[in-house]
Amino acid sequence: MKRIVILGGGTGGTIVANRLRRKYEPADVAVQVIDRDDRHLYQPGLLFVPFGLARTEQLVRSRAAQLRAGIVFHEAGVASVDVDLVDGLDDEMVSPGMAEA
Ligand SMILES: Cc1cc2nc3c(=O)[nH]c(=O)nc-3n(C[C@H](O)[C@H](O)[C@H](O)COP(=O)(O)OP(=O)(O)OC[C@H]3O[C@@H](n4cnc5c(N)ncnc54)[C@H](O)[C@@H]3O)c2cc1C
Repeated sequence: MKRIVILGGGTGGTIVANRLRRKYEPADVAVQVIDRDDRHLYQPGLLFVPFGLARTEQLVRSRAAQLRAGIVFHEAGVASVDVDLVDGLDDEMVSPGMAEA
């Protein structure tokens, strides 16, 4: 069985994970997603918040609930990537988005 790990369960990581899950049988490919929290914020919806048309909490969904059945979600912060360990995987994707320094 191939193992694919996706670091970051935001928009990019979630889309890729779900597409991989649709494309490959769970028996052939294991897909895992890691994110520091289980709160997916629909960022485009933030545009409505200053105008009182939405509240931030209304834009938050469980990340795990956005993932197709058969995808394993891990709630954990990633401090570094062990290159030797990554070599043992069949594929990894890093999708941590952007943040102000
Ligand atoms: C106000 C606003 C309006 C927008 N409108 C649009 C629009 O109309 N159309 C459009 O296409 N895009 C829009 N965007 C942009 C869109 O939301 C982003 O481009 C998209 O969310 C980026 O996806 P991403 O997966 O790269 O990053 P994110 O969605 O930010 O995901 C990154 C994930 O990585 C996780 N992560 C980061 N570091 C770590 C770590 N060390 N350990 C564990 N987890 C980690 C984070 O918790 C996060 O969940 C808008 C954005 C904003 C702010």
